[in-house]
Amino acid sequence: MAPLRLGHRRTLTDLDTGRFGRMIESDYLVVGAGAVGMAFVDTLLSDTDATVTLVDRYDRPGGHWNKAYPFVTLHQPSAFYGVASRELSTGQLDTSGLNAGLGHLATGTEVLAYFEAVMRDRFLPSGRVDYHPMSDHTGDGRFRHRLSGEIHEVSAPVLVDGTHLNTSIPSTHTPNFSVDPDARFMPLNDLVDLTEPAAGYVVIGGGKTGIDALLWLLARGVDPDTITWVVSRDAWLLDRRNTQPGDEFFHDTIETQAAQFEAIAASTSVDDLFDRLEACGYFLRIHPEVRPTMFHGATISEAEAAELRRIRNVVRLGRVTELHSDRIVCERGEIPTTVDTVHVDCSASALSPDLEEKPVFEPGRITPQMIRGYQPVFSASLIAHVEATHDDIEKKNSLCGVVPLPNHDTDYLRLTRAGMMNQYLWSLEPGLDEWMQANRLDGFSATIANAVGDRDKMAVLARLRAAVVPALGKLDEYLAELGLD
Ligand SMILES: Cc1cc2nc3c(=O)[nH]c(=O)nc-3n(C[C@H](O)[C@H](O)[C@H](O)COP(=O)(O)OP(=O)(O)OC[C@H]3O[C@@H](n4cnc5c(N)ncnc54)[C@H](O)[C@@H]3O)c2cc1C
Repeated sequence: MAPLRLGHRRTLTDLDTGRFGRMIESDYLVVGAGAVGMAFVDTLLSDTDATVTLVDRYDRPGGHWNKAYPFVTLHQPSAFYGVASRELSTGQLDTSGLNAGLGHLATGTEVLAYFEAVMRDRFLPSGRVDYHPMSDHTGDGRFRHRLSGEIHEVSAPVLVDGTHLNTSIPSTHTPNFSVDPDARFMPLNDLVDLTEPAAGYVVIGGGKTGIDALLWLLARGVDPDTITWVVSRDAWLLDRRNTQPGDEFFHDTIETQAAQFEAIAASTSVDDLFDRLEACGYFLRIHPEVRPTMFHGATISEAEAAELRRIRNVVRLGRVTELHSDRIVCERGEIPTTVDTVHVDCSASALSPDLEEKPVFEPGRITPQMIRGYQPVFSASLIAHVEATHDDIEKKNSLCGVVPLPNHDTDYLRLTRAGMMNQYLWSLEPGLDEWMQANRLDGFSATIANAVGDRDKMAVLARLRAAVVPALGKLDEYLAELGLD
């Protein structure tokens, strides 16, 4: 492995305009203290005695949560979010609201406090993490402190790129349509600063951020008939009930998983497959009369979907291309608007579907990516564990096949196939099953292990196993048909 040793002080003074700070030696340079970088480092601390230099341009760990809208929450249960070594959930189910009966969804403030505690109580006291907030990694192992301007150079054999997922959020993204300065346009972060009722609210974006904005407006008592929802593509959604860890949700999580594989195996075409996935409760859609063409893995509860159906003004004219003070131009037509109408930008796609896929392990570099669908932090933790327990780069990559991020409905096929193959390979790896069962970021392995001895549950597991091979066969057939193999 080629070391990332970057020479000496004199090289820096030749190349950089900033003042030289320190030469830092460590085993890993991790760029990004977002959820992915934090989950990776946490497992590295548990499984190795390595030292880490952790660099982030924000002042606090937690990545995009630092810039999130005030009413943001996790989309999936807190019980398996964060880092492996520290619980985030209170263990309680919500008793009110649209998430009632399901595991708590930490708010943005709770997520930030959590990552701060992980840094304060675990990373720094370990003496093995050298944390540099307010610092931009400028490439080649150098980073520049934003306030002092000092440039530090890290000599580390491995760089971990915790920025690759490149999560996009409304407050930091630039919309891809033109906006007339007279139009009232804001990221959803600014909704809470409104002081007067608007003539109406136009939410631009059919994804999870748009859904969050709509649910917030409705929860604050806005008349649904004053809301317009601009949806360029309808989406297949995941039912949050099926993402709940814990034995009491076995039939929602594991039985739906079995039903999913059976639906794939029994399907006769791609369209029939989606119908079956909806019928078995794996997929939800908000408007049953419209066939979705998008799938981003967004998660929602049945109650939230019902609430959204109260909004009747849904505009399906393609993407917005121009926002004027009196009209909104879309790809396939336009609708009127007014200067007193608030237009809410929810067009950022949290995880870019155009993301470059690359091997997780390359000489001198690790790029954490999704190796289990919809699970960035579990993926980062398992990648760190594989790094800690294997030397051979081919072997490491074989255990960490990238699960592509979905965009179109049919991307579900590739994502599911890649996820199933990883799960199969992990099951062959001595000790990995036990490691996953003990890792809180893996919401489901323990639920499966706890089923032993329960006849009903064992029958469900038998159904699941029986459906795996026929399901894989069908996925291969459809992927070949669609030219996606
Ligand atoms: C509203 C919302 C809710 C979500 N809910 C869930 C959920 O419930 N469960 C789930 O699993 N996922 C959820 N996600 C998905 C989310 O993408 C991941 O959970 C995760 O937070 C992504 O973390 P990250 O570390 O990859 O990215 P980020 O949070 O973007 O972190 C990247 C970090 O890298 C730093 N950085 C980038 N470039 C540089 C540089 N050159 N120098 C220094 N630092 C740099 C940034 O400052 C940032 O701190 C949600 C996403 C959103 C937007």
